[in-house]
Amino acid sequence: MRILVVEDEPRLLHNLAKALREEGYAVDTAAAGDEGLFKAQNTDYDALVLDVMLPQLDGWQLLERLRQRKNTPVLMLTARDAPRDRVRGLDTGADDYLVKPFDLPELLARLRALIRRTAGQACPIVQVRDVRLDTRARTVTRQGASVPLTAREYAIFEYLALHRGQVVTRTALYEHLFDESDDTLSNLVDVHVFSIRKKLGADLITTRRGQGYCIDS
Ligand code: CA
Repeated sequence: MRILVVEDEPRLLHNLAKALREEGYAVDTAAAGDEGLFKAQNTDYDALVLDVMLPQLDGWQLLERLRQRKNTPVLMLTARDAPRDRVRGLDTGADDYLVKPFDLPELLARLRALIRRTAGQACPIVQVRDVRLDTRARTVTRQGASVPLTAREYAIFEYLALHRGQVVTRTALYEHLFDESDDTLSNLVDVHVFSIRKKLGADLITTRRGQGYCIDS
């Protein structure tokens, strides 16, 4: 999953990006509203973390303009003691909000829930045949036994499992799983899929020639 964080306070931006990468997300960053809007319009992010007080465009203006074109899930960061901000955020099209200063585990949990809901998946557990995916713990078991996946393998499997029943193109996988600091353009996705099949079953992920990959629902 690929997240855009728009926040003008350098330390908070750095810490958020670092924490999200440690959770296995691909993370892009923007320190001003206009830069954030440009990136959000031109990349299909799985979610945005959007601060309200920003230079150039503020969070409201960014959200309003983004909503004219895109439904990317948005988690807004609002100031304490500004209940009106929360109402305004939800009215403008934010999907959730968090009051600063916030607990990191809460932000991570809200992001996971936001991404799941967008994929039409209310429950954190996804069952695909004999394979069980726990999106909270980021673990995979097969017939009850734990299967260790690398961070990339997990990310690919989770994306395909949350979009099961749909064909996911290689381009979409690259766009959702690799961030702007990662310019790997090889056939790495194929290598990871090969390795996932070895661990979870050869026919779990179907290759649609010329189209991409699919997990049957
Ligand atoms: Ca700010």
